[in-house]
Amino acid sequence: MFSLLSKTTPPPDPKAPLVKLEEVYKTYTNGAMGLQGINLTLKRGEFLWIAGVSGAGKSTLLKLLYGAERPTAGKVWVDHQSVNSLSSRQLAQLRRRIGVVFQDYKLLPKHTVAENVSFVLKTLGYGQGEIRRRLWPTLRLVGLESKADCFPHQLSGGEQQRVGIARAIVHTPLLLLADEPTGNLDARNMQMTLGILDELHQAGVSIIVTSHDEALIKQTSHTIVTLDQGRLLPPSEGMPAALKKKPESL
Ligand code: ADP
Repeated sequence: MFSLLSKTTPPPDPKAPLVKLEEVYKTYTNGAMGLQGINLTLKRGEFLWIAGVSGAGKSTLLKLLYGAERPTAGKVWVDHQSVNSLSSRQLAQLRRRIGVVFQDYKLLPKHTVAENVSFVLKTLGYGQGEIRRRLWPTLRLVGLESKADCFPHQLSGGEQQRVGIARAIVHTPLLLLADEPTGNLDARNMQMTLGILDELHQAGVSIIVTSHDEALIKQTSHTIVTLDQGRLLPPSEGMPAALKKKPESL
């Protein structure tokens, strides 16, 4: 059978980090410093929190991972691929293995919950049978089966965020990136969202979540790194829980 891997190309190492940033800098065209000299790795199956106040560079870091921004200097690898050197076709293929959750949900306002979630699968070329097979378990996971026919404006903020999560995971990504996913939620919906992320992590998804909420981050048992003015702080200066574990990335 034809194989894309030639005999001389070794198969990717499953123990290699899923995400790796090496001396990454991002300066925006207006001179704003997004990131300065970031070195960070995420192992497969790991759950990493990125803490930091507004403007610290959290969104910039995630954008580099899904190719929405390119680094000014340094290297960014995701799943064995150097993101900065991918063609737009290769980048589209990489994005199939990534799910992104946004703080402001970014739902399609004129489409139902079911349509918002199915839309991702349609654009990835899935057929109707596979879309049905994936849609309902995903809506069940986020507790929205009964809201499948509702439009976004008929949902609470927490429910809209859960649609955002459903949309990010319906294609079974390897890596889930969640940018301040609890930023607009009340305590109950925040806990529900964190519960869903934990469930996904237990199912094997690698996760990076950002937050400016120190009280929220203090609750976690996962690894935490802290960004400050585009730089990663050493664990002793970051969030207290960062001291519980010593991330290999620092
Ligand atoms: P955070 O997500 O932690 O709030 P960001 O990554 O959004 O931080 O922003 C980091 C820095 O980069 C800030 O100073 C911000 O103003 C700047 N920045 C972010 N996006 C842009 C952009 N598109 N153009 C110019 N500056 C930007």
